[in-house]
Amino acid sequence: MAAIDGLPPLREVIREHELVAKKQLGQNFLLDLNLTAKIARAAGDLTGCDVLEVGPGPGGLTRGLLAEGARKVLAVEKDARCLPALAEIAAHYPGRLEVINGDALEVDVAAHLTPPIKIAANLPYNVGTELLVRWLTPRDWPPFWESLTLMFQKEVAERIVAKPGSKHYGRLALLAQWRAEARIVMVLPPEAFTPAPKVHSAVVHLRALPAPRYPADAKILSEVVAAGFNQRRKMLRASLKGVSPQIEALLEEAGIAPTERAERVSLEQFCTLARIVEAARAK
Ligand code: SAM
Repeated sequence: MAAIDGLPPLREVIREHELVAKKQLGQNFLLDLNLTAKIARAAGDLTGCDVLEVGPGPGGLTRGLLAEGARKVLAVEKDARCLPALAEIAAHYPGRLEVINGDALEVDVAAHLTPPIKIAANLPYNVGTELLVRWLTPRDWPPFWESLTLMFQKEVAERIVAKPGSKHYGRLALLAQWRAEARIVMVLPPEAFTPAPKVHSAVVHLRALPAPRYPADAKILSEVVAAGFNQRRKMLRASLKGVSPQIEALLEEAGIAPTERAERVSLEQFCTLARIVEAARAK
């Protein structure tokens, strides 16, 4: 029996194309089309938008994105075994699905997309964090995308939305929250996937802010944050020694106690410190 979009149910697609999940490709498929439609809706209004999807696999989320009205979906999939299943979806939605068989870490997607652009993906866990960091750290802001709607392991999702003082607070939270608004919109149990992973997953929605929340040089901010959290148990006057020989004075100028630890310093304070470090270096 056909599914709601007129295409075969995903279990049938997987059987027909013998898509036995490969662990090394992070393959945990979503087979419930109601769920993939819900994730697509979490990306907001897709009409008139191009959507980049990384790792479409058998195409459950791809179908959700197209059914929700995306103008075009660009799907980048590393596993060539998925291509015939994706070709069936492309034929069902003429001119709206472009599939690239390649590694999302290497493909230059910009040439294939027209703004406004949203990114939505049930990411392969092994490359998810790296892709997120890349999307959050272009030199210029705003980036090429308007929003990211991404599935992560729940623990990674918690690191993205964490606030100071929580055990998940660190570099990822600061990177994400400096230039975007980030929230967890859905938590999924392991059984939602085939095969079931060991841990819970969560969908995070990030909306790019028109400008960073507080001014700071991206490189210096990133350097200060990385140094602070590389040795998160140490006091900042020790962990940030390599940033500047006068770090104690600079911390005080930023209103941060030199005995403080990175996990208790807010985004605003880190940005203030980055500006002070930049000014001190320019002297
Ligand atoms: N989106 C599908 C779903 O929700 O059922 C599949 C999700 S599965 C967690 C991750 C997908 O990413 C797999 O199809 C896998 O082959 C693909 N993948 C893994 N590494 C990749 C990479 N570097 N570039 C592109 N796709 C990749």
